[in-house]
Amino acid sequence: MASNSTLDVPHSTSSVTVSIIDATIKMTFPIRPFFNPVVGGVEQLETIAYSFLIEHANGQKLLFDLGARVDFESNAPALVRRLKSFGFNSPSIEKDVATILDEGGMDLRDINAVIWSHHHWDHVGDVSKFPSTTELVVGPGVPKLWPGYPVNQESFVLESDYKGRPTREIDFNNASELGGFRAFDYFGDGSFYLLDTPGHTIGHMSALARTSVSPPSFIFMGGDTCHHAGVFRPSEFVPLPETIIPSPIAPLNATKKLNFCPGEMFLSIHPNHSPTEPFYKIVVDKDGKSLPYIDVDSAYETIAKIQKIDKSENVLVIMAHDASLRDILSYWPTSANTWQADGWKSKGTWRFLADFVSQKVEARY
Ligand SMILES: [Zn+2]
Repeated sequence: MASNSTLDVPHSTSSVTVSIIDATIKMTFPIRPFFNPVVGGVEQLETIAYSFLIEHANGQKLLFDLGARVDFESNAPALVRRLKSFGFNSPSIEKDVATILDEGGMDLRDINAVIWSHHHWDHVGDVSKFPSTTELVVGPGVPKLWPGYPVNQESFVLESDYKGRPTREIDFNNASELGGFRAFDYFGDGSFYLLDTPGHTIGHMSALARTSVSPPSFIFMGGDTCHHAGVFRPSEFVPLPETIIPSPIAPLNATKKLNFCPGEMFLSIHPNHSPTEPFYKIVVDKDGKSLPYIDVDSAYETIAKIQKIDKSENVLVIMAHDASLRDILSYWPTSANTWQADGWKSKGTWRFLADFVSQKVEARY
């Protein structure tokens, strides 16, 4: 990987503290409606979801995404019906993010804002558990989805998530540009940006947090721009190495002697045997429609920009559902800011490949 950042981020002396919260969702999703082709015979993938706590030195605290409501059936009825019509089974959700924070000693009155990457059930959580002073921040166009259920019986969102609290719709019209994305400088000091990353839904946003100042490092929170790392890796910027170190299929604590694996092992199951193309493409039907993306062209443009960002050694890319990072990351109350020293990127970049040889997943279906 290149040592220079390809991200053109203006200099800043301000950073934020980022903590990752495991939103305790466990669910499986079928490959075929989302990605093409099936790789390694794996038809379904197990996935999870992350939420992020962002703390600024000025005392402000934000949450980027909230995972899901603990009771799946309490989502908007039209949404529950639609997901079940696809054969989607109720996920297991142990605790919602509000409960995790509360039990960890966080006073929810200290959360200034909840930011939704987008309005889907596995990201919006249960905002009603936060005090009415907690602002809801959404991407462009999302308030057009109001009113939610029950005012609109067919809505996929819930009125209780936004009613009675300040809601801010981010305006990217006069925004600067970062990594090719329109970027909203949230605190005005270069420590935390919201990025306009279209394709998946209306108003989908990602976030870029500065986790250190000198030298600069960042965490890119990709939301649902990609539902699996195989949608954006490998790429011409992050090619599949001839020797993968550490091995994605070895235990994380494997000895150095054993901890490598030939890239050929995965090149052989790559649909085009290409070290520079992602494993998965987006499934598009004959009418040009896709289940995971409302706009496939924009989705591919967004993915192409993320591939460039992914090249930067000082940017850690975390998609909301990247289960391959689960055992590498540390979670709140531990901060994620030391990710570079802790080697999360080098340990995590190719770990998703283990999904393609996972006997555990294969055996279950
Ligand atoms: Zn999602």
